Amino acid sequence: MTRSIGFTDIDFDRDGKQVGFVNFPSSVHDDAWGVIRVPLTVIRNGSGPTVILQGGNHGDEYEGPIVLGEIIRGLESTAMNGRLIIVPAINLPAVEASRRVSPIDDLNFNRTFPGDPLGSTTQQISHYVSSVLYPLADAFVDLHSGGSSLSIIPSAVLEPCDDPQLDARNRAAVEAFQAPFKVQISNFGDPRTSTSTAVRAGLVTVGTEMAGTGTVTPEAVRICRRGVHNVLRHLGVLEGALEKGPDATGFHTIAGTSSYVMASEAGIFEPFHELGAAVREGEPAGRIHFLENPGRDPVELRFGASGVVYGKRHPGRVRPGNCCLVVASPLED
Ligand code: CA
Repeated sequence: MTRSIGFTDIDFDRDGKQVGFVNFPSSVHDDAWGVIRVPLTVIRNGSGPTVILQGGNHGDEYEGPIVLGEIIRGLESTAMNGRLIIVPAINLPAVEASRRVSPIDDLNFNRTFPGDPLGSTTQQISHYVSSVLYPLADAFVDLHSGGSSLSIIPSAVLEPCDDPQLDARNRAAVEAFQAPFKVQISNFGDPRTSTSTAVRAGLVTVGTEMAGTGTVTPEAVRICRRGVHNVLRHLGVLEGALEKGPDATGFHTIAGTSSYVMASEAGIFEPFHELGAAVREGEPAGRIHFLENPGRDPVELRFGASGVVYGKRHPGRVRPGNCCLVVASPLED
């Protein structure tokens, strides 16, 4: 099997803090022997657990990268136990462009796992994560927010897992995040995400979704900061008791296609509820207006599942197939 072409000066086995980069060759018109420098920090103290902290999976989701930057600048190895591998802007080209997908190859990093060492830049980066970083680690934290197209209830995310023992460890770690909401998300069962690949690699895995809409909110940064530190306490990397969050409800799930309200027409979507509203299957969810044809009646959309409005499309204009709303339903064990 072809090895990753990513290379770094960082020594994963050395104690102390190393702030650097993993480099991916990028031979372009104005830079024949250049590289793309993806920020990589390793902080290590002894032989405790190894945890990967990842942000910038999507380049328009900011709370995670902000909190990971704080940890890179503020945490000394002597204040922790084990090893942190921190990649706060893993899909660097997308982060630089503040876009969900990379401007280099138009790929969504989180749909390229396990990656391809012979593929395009995004595929080379995901291959580095799955083939070089995952084998070093015991646990993986992937920090997402809603991104440009979605507003989401700040939440800790559970990846579906077939192994009951790993599932129990994942649930405990997600619980430890102390987010206001916790939800299992299957991404339509897509196996190409970094969290699903981490679970298959046997890593204790925690995801997040913070507020979104391509901006930063103070509350989401606080939730994310508390959550990351709590997960590191839970895993034994940091000392001390968990910092309690607000009383959260039980696990919810975005189980299948019925959880999504999809646009059936091109137009402007008017939602009928705010995030967090309790809704029932069959109830009107919103309607699509035809601003260019005001004599036409709006088309109503209905919920396909009962639960809580978890996510909402941010831009008003929709085309058929756009995700307008997402419902999280109570997860039954
Ligand atoms: Ca995301």
